[in-house]
Amino acid sequence: MPGSTEYDVIIAGAGPAGSTAGYILAEAGLRVLIIDKSTFPREKLCAGCITAKTVKLLQRVFGEGTADLRKGNIINFEARRYEIFYRDKLIIGRDTNLPFYFVERYTYDDFLLKKARGAGAEVIEGDGVEYFDADRNSIRTSSGRTFTARFIIGADGINSVMRRFFPEDKINKRHWQENLATGLEIFIDRSALKEEINHPLLCFDYVNYGYSWLFPNRDRLIAGTGGLNVKNRRQLLSAFRKFLSTLDIGEVRPRRIKGYPFPYGNFLREPVHGNIMLVGDAAGFADPLLGEGIFYAQRSAELASTAILNVMKKGMKAGDAAAETAREYIRLLQHCLYTEFDYALKTRNFIFNYFNKFNSLALKMLMTVLGSRPVETIHGLRSYRWMKKHES
Ligand SMILES: Cc1cc2nc3c(=O)[nH]c(=O)nc-3n(C[C@H](O)[C@H](O)[C@H](O)COP(=O)(O)OP(=O)(O)OC[C@H]3O[C@@H](n4cnc5c(N)ncnc54)[C@H](O)[C@@H]3O)c2cc1C
Repeated sequence: MPGSTEYDVIIAGAGPAGSTAGYILAEAGLRVLIIDKSTFPREKLCAGCITAKTVKLLQRVFGEGTADLRKGNIINFEARRYEIFYRDKLIIGRDTNLPFYFVERYTYDDFLLKKARGAGAEVIEGDGVEYFDADRNSIRTSSGRTFTARFIIGADGINSVMRRFFPEDKINKRHWQENLATGLEIFIDRSALKEEINHPLLCFDYVNYGYSWLFPNRDRLIAGTGGLNVKNRRQLLSAFRKFLSTLDIGEVRPRRIKGYPFPYGNFLREPVHGNIMLVGDAAGFADPLLGEGIFYAQRSAELASTAILNVMKKGMKAGDAAAETAREYIRLLQHCLYTEFDYALKTRNFIFNYFNKFNSLALKMLMTVLGSRPVETIHGLRSYRWMKKHES
């Protein structure tokens, strides 16, 4: 209904989380408005690695299989091998029948937003959400427009504006800051590297509580380093430069290096307030060991949308419906995400403490003993629970 200011659902942010929710809800026939401060296609700093569980979600939600995604250039590279290094020492290199897929966010996010628009969601670009009025269930944008909705989904990323309207007891600020990470990245032309690299490399020990990566795309590679802010202070940039020096690509000018925060264990247990539900990075939903966030952005959006649709079917009054939807969303998160996050967090703490003591030999022994289990876990075929016995 163009021109209307009343919707069933308003979604702040059109990243993977916002567009996934927008698509599901508009497909179900709801009046949906997506608002993003950027104009699409837009860049988002990211290494663009997606795993089997994301591809499965793209099939389940959007009906897009890998063949279509390759054809549409949404998946632009895939690799059936990975290597893990401890500094510049190769620890393990394995072939896998579970491919890692690579996307460019410029294309991927635009593709998802077009899907949401195609399903009937209205989209406002280039105008950010600025204010939330709890009494009226309305939001105001930077340009001064006001819109109301029964439900509001905050999908506006790690620096979420919607999260600022949550009471302090729902956001433990100290815990949030302690588990916030920063990633630094550069793009590298394939021609700049002496050897051809067609699979992902993960390198440990350049940073504390984090790692470095070199991921392939069709036309270029992405080198990055990310780690917890509190464990690395100002050393992240020098750690990244040390990692880059092993790639032998010559002088890297500071302007080429881009940085952006990402959630790394600071997921919110109660990402709901009034009729607002937070999804994706806004709620801190990323894998606490690897920082993988695209899947969790889309999965949490799917769960929030399911909660809305389940409750709307019951035909409840607005206030009751908001409370019931919040409960339903948390129940789904508990069932589908929180247990995994808890075990991934324990695994992370175990791994980074352990490495600090025993270095590369420990990593090699661990990877040999675990075999294909870590990769199956990353792809969603196995739970992080298999690390439980290492807790004590
Ligand atoms: C360096 C780096 C590398 C990464 N690599 C990977 C990887 O390889 N694989 C992986 O799975 N994850 C990776 N991640 C994490 C991943 O990028 C995020 O988890 C993912 O983008 C989260 O999606 P989202 O939709 O929640 O938020 P975003 O993608 O951040 O989208 C949020 C959207 O909200 C909009 N917005 C912001 N404020 C407002 C506002 N006030 N009003 C309206 N709109 C607003 C923004 O313009 C943006 O479009 C990486 C992150 C970093 C920093």
